[in-house]
Amino acid sequence: MMKKIIVLFLALVIFGTGCQRATATTEDIQGVNLFDRDTDYETYFVPETSIAVSDLIPEFNSANMALICSDGSTVYPMSDGVIRETSAIGVSFETATMQVDDVVSIYMGQNRYSITDTYRDAKQILEDNGRVMIVLLDGFGNYAYKRALESGQIPYLSTLEEHEALSVYVPVTNAGFAAMITGQGPDVNGVHDRSYRDLKVQSIFGDALEMGKKSILIEADIQILNTEIAPELHVDVNGDGNIDDEIFEQAKEVVGEDYDLIFIHFHGIDDRGHDFGPDAEETMAYVQVIDGYVETLASLWDGNMILTADHGMDFDEEGGYHGRGNTMDMVVPYFTRECVGQ
Ligand SMILES: [Zn+2]
Repeated sequence: MMKKIIVLFLALVIFGTGCQRATATTEDIQGVNLFDRDTDYETYFVPETSIAVSDLIPEFNSANMALICSDGSTVYPMSDGVIRETSAIGVSFETATMQVDDVVSIYMGQNRYSITDTYRDAKQILEDNGRVMIVLLDGFGNYAYKRALESGQIPYLSTLEEHEALSVYVPVTNAGFAAMITGQGPDVNGVHDRSYRDLKVQSIFGDALEMGKKSILIEADIQILNTEIAPELHVDVNGDGNIDDEIFEQAKEVVGEDYDLIFIHFHGIDDRGHDFGPDAEETMAYVQVIDGYVETLASLWDGNMILTADHGMDFDEEGGYHGRGNTMDMVVPYFTRECVGQ
């Protein structure tokens, strides 16, 4: 009997709170984060009474305001609204005509770019019979990008067209990678955090197969998601502590082959971000190494290029961390290069 009561209680907690799509990742929510591309205005804010978002964010502009929910969905409400605490675990956003529950973060965007645009842009290129290289710069957030830009450490990337883009919640590799290759948030593609590997929707690799296009996914030593094509895995052959150099070697080879879609996942910026912090000397020096890799690949590849990150990187006591719905973790650069000489 006791067990039954506990199960019922849990069911009520998980499904009875009015969230749009309850998921297994629903966790205690300590409030809502309000941020733009470079500032956190409120962190884990729990409103005591209803308060308008425009009262909390300077230079409020509803056109690109995004609500990021605990189920991984992103909603663009298009108008100001009030936030209030609706239950022990959730903050909701309300206007006269809509209510969105379990809002984790509110992003005051300059644009509507999202890492999910990777899928849409790449698919468009393939449908237009173009070729595309996608480079996943793991853990390269907008903050590190801006620091690298200031210090002149990204001579190549700084020449590309760039926009700030929003990652997905929870901002970790599995979820960000899945969002990039499916064009959907975790609420639709089913990959919410590091414990998920299966996609509920088709990815760009499945689309490429259907279109009769040839694609390759160049990864490090672990398969992160179960994609329609198996990744080419690599180990640290020369024992220098990095796998990106082995990935780079294969990437240089395949750019000369007849691939329509090349997806390359570089890990080293994230590794150093965790060890030393998002803008530590070691991290920035490695960003410069990756910039060099990318420049070389760009010189060998005449197709289109899309370069973005799965998530950003924040400071913690030891070095770096990501997984929160704030500016450091959620805002990343999104670079594009058109095809050349075709
Ligand atoms: Zn990481």
